[in-house]
This record gives sequence, C-alpha cells and structure tokens, in this order.
Amino acid sequence: MAVDFDVAVIGAGAAGMMAASVAGQRGLKVVLIDHAKKLGEKIRISGGGRCNFTNTGTTPQNFLSQNPNFCRSALSAYKPADFLGLVESYGIAWHEKHKGQLFCDDSSDSIIQLLRQECLKGNVAWRMPCAVQSVQASGSGYALATDTGAIHCKQLVIATGGMALPQVGATDFALRLARQFGLKVIEPRPALVPLTFDGGFWQDFVPLSGVSTEVELSNQAKGKAKITFLEDLLFTHRGLSGPGILQISSYWQPGESITINLAPGLDLSQTLIEQKSGNRQQLGNYLATLWPKRLVEQWIGAAQAIPTGVAEQRMADVPDKVLRQLGQALHHWTLTPTGTAGYKKAEVMRGGVDTKDLNQKTMASRAHPNLYFIGESVDVTGWLGGYNFQWAWASGVACGRALQGE
Ligand SMILES: Cc1cc2nc3c(=O)[nH]c(=O)nc-3n(C[C@H](O)[C@H](O)[C@H](O)COP(=O)(O)OP(=O)(O)OC[C@H]3O[C@@H](n4cnc5c(N)ncnc54)[C@H](O)[C@@H]3O)c2cc1C
Repeated sequence: MAVDFDVAVIGAGAAGMMAASVAGQRGLKVVLIDHAKKLGEKIRISGGGRCNFTNTGTTPQNFLSQNPNFCRSALSAYKPADFLGLVESYGIAWHEKHKGQLFCDDSSDSIIQLLRQECLKGNVAWRMPCAVQSVQASGSGYALATDTGAIHCKQLVIATGGMALPQVGATDFALRLARQFGLKVIEPRPALVPLTFDGGFWQDFVPLSGVSTEVELSNQAKGKAKITFLEDLLFTHRGLSGPGILQISSYWQPGESITINLAPGLDLSQTLIEQKSGNRQQLGNYLATLWPKRLVEQWIGAAQAIPTGVAEQRMADVPDKVLRQLGQALHHWTLTPTGTAGYKKAEVMRGGVDTKDLNQKTMASRAHPNLYFIGESVDVTGWLGGYNFQWAWASGVACGRALQGE
C-alpha cells in the first residue's frame, strides 16, 4: 500500500528543505526524500565550510538563463533580507566578506540545522537515505516507487539540484525526470569551474601554480555583450582558477577566448614610460613591486611579451616602444582554454529545466501543474558569491507557498 502525502519533495538540499518546510508549516502533509546518507552535503562544504548563504546585492542580472526575466518574480518575493532574518532568528552569527557576500562566522552546519529545524516545525516526514526507482503519473498526482516503499503524492517537487560534484551525490535525476514528462532541458554544462589549457602550451605556466593576483577578466561571445569581472585569478597545474575564472567560466563556451587584464585600473604603458626617466632599477624588479616576483619572472618569459633579457635591463635603457608592447601584453593577455575541469570540480551546473516550461511565480510545470522544479535543476545559474543559495531559497519558497493542501 502506498503512503499518501499532499507533497513529495525529492532532494533534501537547500531548495528542497526550504520548499518542504514552507509547505509543511502551511499545514500540508509533506515527505522529503533524499538518496544521500548525510544531510545537506553541498551546504556543508559551501563557502569553504562557512556557507556564503546569500548576497545582499542580488538582482536578476547576477544570473544566467535562456530567459533572464524568469527569476525576477521569485527573487522579489523572497529577498536576501528575508533569509538573513531567518538566520538571525536562530542566533547564527554572520559577517559580510566582501561585495555583499554573507557567510556564517562558524560552520555551515548551522544553516543545515536551521533548515532541518524548519522542516521539523512543519512536521515534514523524512525518507533518507532513500533512492527513487520510478515516478509515474497516477490520477492527478504521482506514484513513486522507492527503496523504502511506495508513496503517492498529489504534488511532486523535484529539488535534486545539478550535476556538479557527483562525488557528494549529485545526479542528473531532475533532467531525466523533466524529459520523462516532456519538459525541455537546456543543455547542461559545468559552471563556476576552473578552465584548462593544452598541456604543451601550459607547461611554461606550471611553475606559477599557487600564484594569485587580482585581474580583470572578460569574455565576449559572438553577438553578445562583453562580460567583465574584477576578481582574483589563481594559476594551477592544469590551467586557471580562482574567483575571477570561476565567474567567467559560466559565460565561456568551447572555442571562445578570454582576455585577462593583469594590470586593472592602471595605464601600464604610460606608467612605465613615466617611471623610466633616470631609473636605474631593473625593469623586472620594478614590475615585481606591482605583482608577485614569481609571476613577473615566469610570465614575461612564458608569454613572450617582450624580447628576452629586457627584464634585466635598467628601466632607463628600455625603449618606449618595448614598454608600450609590454603594457599592451599585460593589459590584453588573450587565451583560448581547451576545456573546463568538469563536473568533479565545478560549483554548479548551468542549463537545466527550460524555464519556458515552468510558471515563474510557482515553479510548476505548465503542462503538468502538479509537478514542480526548483533550485539548481532549473535553468537559472547564479554568479559566485551567494547568489545560487539565494535562488535555492527563493525558488523553494515560491514553490512552498504555491503547493495546495486538501
Ligand atoms: C564546493 C561548492 C561550494 C559552493 N559554495 C556556495 C556558496 O558558498 N554559496 C552559494 O550560493 N552557492 C554555493 N554553491 C552552490 C550551491 O551549493 C548550490 O547551488 C545549491 O546547493 C543548490 O541547491 P539545490 O537544493 O538545488 O541542490 P542541492 O543543494 O545540491 O541538493 C540536491 C539534493 O538532492 C539529492 N539528490 C540528488 N540526486 C538525487 C536522486 N537521484 N535521488 C534522491 N536525491 C537526490 C542530493 O543528495 C542533495 O541532497 C557551492 C557548490 C559547491 C559544489
């Protein structure tokens, strides 16, 4: 015999727990199902263990989607201040790191406990760990076969997230289920992910692994507006990472190049020419006042920006033409990545369930009004900096408020 619920939520992550708790607290009979042994693993590891739980500057412009307006309604109905209010009501200490990014002072576990507690308040039933073997339409609701028994629900919420980090239980369940019910899926790709380069090309930059510096990164896809981020860049053994690269990776498409301005906010050619007169300092030593010395030494050689040996010349002896060439090269380092480090290293998945098939106020499928998709499974992908959790909370709340009881 199937156990009956008003609502079954599959996926007890950020969005799933939020939707389940909101619906439960409205008096609906809710079951939350997750295949993982441990609750909220992505929340636990997020923000370096401190969970960057929202961003106070959240706007629809901080998200990528085929339909950039889709997220508007949910984001305006549940704002960063609303989640912050919930965090404060649990006495969780927090701080702003920078650019509106709010983190827990202590561990991200406090956010998991907050969500668990909110679910308890809503008398949400748990099935965890529990795999869902099949989902079939049954009357106006759904019949679920799970390894802890059959469930019947009037409404089904899919909150199984994206495919980033399969090693902590991420799957393509949401995309498979969407296709099963005839919803379109925007091609998924790893996003907020390190970029990799051809091994031969990158060999010269490998000694820079671990070096980090603030840069301006841009990506211009054909026919699209130029996207620019001012953030840190980190050299790795296989390519580039760090917040700036993660941000630009979400926009980058295979075959496109990215441009890195290693001297943001400076007119380097002009500065070098101004500094040159009577300057007996070696050019390399002067540049090392602007960047880590290792970066200066290795980058100039590897990027073949200026003729060999110039870094060892006294600044006063370096021709203006060469200084201009160097300034240009450092302002416009253009690279073509060969790929990304993939889902194993990505923070999120871009793409997902096509928003054209969903109601923006409720997250319900247009064709199947009792089937909902929320969180990262939907084609709404946030920038780095707390935006993805804000989307998870907002889409979860929109759905939780729309679900119907008897
Ligand atoms: C390393 C890392 C750090 C991050 N840091 C931040 C940050 O600081 N700030 C921020 O805003 N975002 C961050 N993110 C992104 C953020 O974690 C996600 O966008 C967010 O968790 C998505 O919420 P969700 O509820 O849609 O999915 P998830 O939180 O991923 O939850 C999905 C749930 O579904 C379950 N599930 C999956 N498949 C199945 C299945 N087949 N059957 C049953 N259950 C299933 C999973 O076990 C999981 O519990 C980070 C991501 C990573 C990987």
